[in-house]
Amino acid sequence: MAITLPKIIKCSVTDCAYNKDNKCHTLAITVGDASHAACDTFFKTSHKGGSPDLMASVGACKVENCRHNKSLECSASGINVGLHSNHADCQTFSAR
Ligand code: SF4
Ligand SMILES: [Zn+2]
Repeated sequence: MAITLPKIIKCSVTDCAYNKDNKCHTLAITVGDASHAACDTFFKTSHKGGSPDLMASVGACKVENCRHNKSLECSASGINVGLHSNHADCQTFSAR
């Protein structure tokens, strides 16, 4: 089976180090724990990181109760990330 990583179509968490123009620019993020679909890669610091020419993907997702999750990987075609309280969440999460 060919594996293609889901892209992060949009991330509105502009104060993350990897965010530029509502896009995520790290190679891949890790999402969640057993109970919550937060972006584990979210990081606030005084300067920007990542590569501006990269469109980030979902590397792994630990949210097994999402209907897009198969064997602890995300099978969605793409995801959106947004602010929730003071952290970043996968907004494409959909409970099984
Ligand atoms: S859509 Fe579901 S499986 Fe994919 S990253 Fe978001 S929470 Fe994880
Ligand atoms: Zn959250």
